[in-house]
Amino acid sequence: MTTNILFAAKAERWTTYEQPLAKSLTDTEVNFDLRTEFAPEEVDYIVYAPNSEVQDFTPYTRLRAVLNLWAGVEDVVGNETLKVPLTRMVDHGLTQGMIEWVMGHTLRYHLGIDGHIHGQDGLWRNEAPPLAQDRKVTVLGLGALGAAVAQALAGLGFDVTGWSRSAKEIDSVRCENGPEGLRAALSEAEIVVLLLPNTPATENTLNAETLALMPRGACIINPGRGPLIDDDALLAALDSGQIAHATLDVFRIEPLPAEHPYWAHPKVTVTPHIASETRASTASQVIAENIRRDLDGEPLLHVVDRSLGY
Ligand code: NDP
Repeated sequence: MTTNILFAAKAERWTTYEQPLAKSLTDTEVNFDLRTEFAPEEVDYIVYAPNSEVQDFTPYTRLRAVLNLWAGVEDVVGNETLKVPLTRMVDHGLTQGMIEWVMGHTLRYHLGIDGHIHGQDGLWRNEAPPLAQDRKVTVLGLGALGAAVAQALAGLGFDVTGWSRSAKEIDSVRCENGPEGLRAALSEAEIVVLLLPNTPATENTLNAETLALMPRGACIINPGRGPLIDDDALLAALDSGQIAHATLDVFRIEPLPAEHPYWAHPKVTVTPHIASETRASTASQVIAENIRRDLDGEPLLHVVDRSLGY
């Protein structure tokens, strides 16, 4: 029996994913037909990415699961026509990319690199930066990406605190959880990295009140999602000096409109949602393995909890 897999994403992604997905599915020995078009009632699995044309899952009567190509699922998680399991992407390449991006921007702040790039003024300011062990970094979100980032930062010697919804234990990382834990996680943080999903519970995690908990002059790195931060509160905190600088990769509206104050703000670095991306070769293996598992009666990996939204 053939397993019909619909690739429901923008056309340019098909160019990237067609061959790696076909190869990974072949490697799992699944007898498959992978296409960008099927009659809905013939589809067994949908490989899904945001802005897909598939918004109503009702006609997909024999659908077994939707496999999201991205880690973030906010575009599909609330779709009430979706009645089958939804999985999100946990991909080695995506994780490694995020580690590298966060590490680079953390080191920029830690080493005070901007001061030297922009401060070539003939003055010999020979103050060496502290060691990483004397720099407190907090990672909000300790999932697939946050935990890996926290461990990598700790591996370089940073004094790392992490925060999540449920209690965790991670080597060399002080773990906090829940609302009280957030206060503890922020109160000494010199650099804060946001790797939370976008859900109703995480919206405006950084707001006027929580930004004020951070030590004056702290820096923020947000590769998570735009709605995690109250933009007006952040702009006010930057203007007052409470927050020294923010590096923002994600925004409530993307692309970030040209007139948005973040673009011209001297204390903001905007990057265009490039912190990390799903890598076709490794992500295809994850998708293929999940389909194989489901067909063999094994539980799917990385299933989204629809009630929590991630
Ligand atoms: P996971 O689902 O693995 O982890 C989410 C983490 O956030 C978990 O530790 C979870 O806690 C925590 N969390 C969720 N809700 C709350 C809450 N209300 N309070 C406290 N903690 C909470 O996600 P990933 O690590 O895979 O990805 C994180 C996000 O990174 C994605 O959702 C996406 O938005 C973003 N991303 C951005 C990219 C970019 O290029 N900019 C690329 C890829 C992802 P618990 O462990 O207790 O469940």
